[in-house]
Amino acid sequence: MFQKILIANRGEIAVRVIRACRELGIRTVAVYSEADENALHVAMADEAYCIGPAPAPRSYLHIPSLIEAASKAGVDAIHPGYGFLSENAHFAAVCKTWGIEFIGPPPEAIETMGLKSLAREAMQRAGVPVVPGSEGTVEDEDEALRIAREIGYPVLVKAAAGGGGRGIRVARDEQELVQALASARREAESTFGNGAVYLEKFLEEPRHIEIQVIADKHGHTLHLGERECSVQRRRQKLIEEAPSPVMTPELRQRMAEAAVRAAEAVDYVGAGTVEFLVDRDGNFYFIEMNTRIQVEHPVTELITGIDLVKEQIRVAAGEPLSFTQEDVTFRGWAMECRINAEDPNNRFLPSPGTITAWEPPGGPGVRVDAGFRAGTAVVPFYDSLVAKLIVWGRDREETMARMQRALAEFRIEGIRTTIPLYQEILKRDDFRQGRFHTRWLEEEVLAGHQSP
Ligand code: ADP
Ligand code: ADP
Ligand code: MG
Repeated sequence: MFQKILIANRGEIAVRVIRACRELGIRTVAVYSEADENALHVAMADEAYCIGPAPAPRSYLHIPSLIEAASKAGVDAIHPGYGFLSENAHFAAVCKTWGIEFIGPPPEAIETMGLKSLAREAMQRAGVPVVPGSEGTVEDEDEALRIAREIGYPVLVKAAAGGGGRGIRVARDEQELVQALASARREAESTFGNGAVYLEKFLEEPRHIEIQVIADKHGHTLHLGERECSVQRRRQKLIEEAPSPVMTPELRQRMAEAAVRAAEAVDYVGAGTVEFLVDRDGNFYFIEMNTRIQVEHPVTELITGIDLVKEQIRVAAGEPLSFTQEDVTFRGWAMECRINAEDPNNRFLPSPGTITAWEPPGGPGVRVDAGFRAGTAVVPFYDSLVAKLIVWGRDREETMARMQRALAEFRIEGIRTTIPLYQEILKRDDFRQGRFHTRWLEEEVLAGHQSP
């Protein structure tokens, strides 16, 4: 087993990894930018190194600074968390050349899944259903117009290297497609440094349901069931739950088999998520695989009792998975609200600032994964996620009541947060009955009450 791990990340996920390491008896090394000197992950780690100025390209994304800190500290492995360098095949390869284990899949698997156009081809070969669309990337307007005519409007133009809901545009006719192509390309180029785009049929009112997988280096690839992630704003998840209110044992079985096939097709190792869209008739379509731990992994942990981050570390160290597929059973219901430092009553404007009061909820079935505490500051340079509130209950009813109780207990002062939005969602009939899709929040909840 590893003796010492460097966490190439910040915020709640850095704290989450430190906790897993501590339980495994592994020493932890934090890295931080000049803006994060007083951050919680720095205080919690055994050692910490400043790796540069606030902008991420000069710190959390700056590979030479990370490798320098790793060498100085003498670590065996690097955990990339999510975001930043977690899906960067080059970084995974650089770690290898320095004799440092990258806690994630092999660079080749990251590369195939990282370009969604490539991933779609690999999945089709593996017999995993994908959303109808272009074979690979689309090169020009003529090709895009021809393919759109074949699959029928509306279509989506999507960045091949995309993530975080960026670089995606809807087109309902030919004129819109020409515009969508140009603007998706532009956003893809500026956000991901890669302007390649592909086309997908735009599915109306689908649900986003994903399957958690994990694989060791001994040829075992297992699944841990699904997560329902359809409550989204701008294609970013806000509430996740497990199981999905629309899941049946038969559909779960078919989706899980497809997800395991997807992982095996790229010789996957570690924790990963295969994302699908599901239509009203229970047809499911692969959209992408995230080759890292996901933000919403705790809901799976709560219903399976399996610590995904510890398993991730164990398999990276070469140990076999500590459980079999038969050992994976689901108990009760779990739900997560992503608490962001944003003002839901003012166009979700970011709300940085120093947290003056921080009183997280507690009691039965409540878990708070946070990157902050009283006195620490939410800085404007990074993601706005400040905490994840995750609750468990015997069934969905109890879970929702607990979530409402916990949201009411959570006191955060000094910044605005999305807590009031979650309180509103949890009162909605549609939500309570499990009737929603990926555009439900924007169309049914946000459309009316948003100030200009
Ligand atoms: P999850 O699928 O785990 O819910 P998100 O899409 O919310 O992931 O992304 C988690 C974090 O990683 C967010 O901070 C998001 O902005 C960032 N992220 C995801 N994919 C990319 C990418 N390809 N490039 C840059 N950042 C990304
Ligand atoms: P990202 O890498 O940015 O997470 P995804 O391909 O996973 O991009 O899609 C993000 C979200 O965009 C999905 O959860 C869904 O809400 C929406 N979406 C993506 N593809 C489609 C599609 N073909 N039809 C309808 N909605 C889609
Ligand atoms: Mg996605």
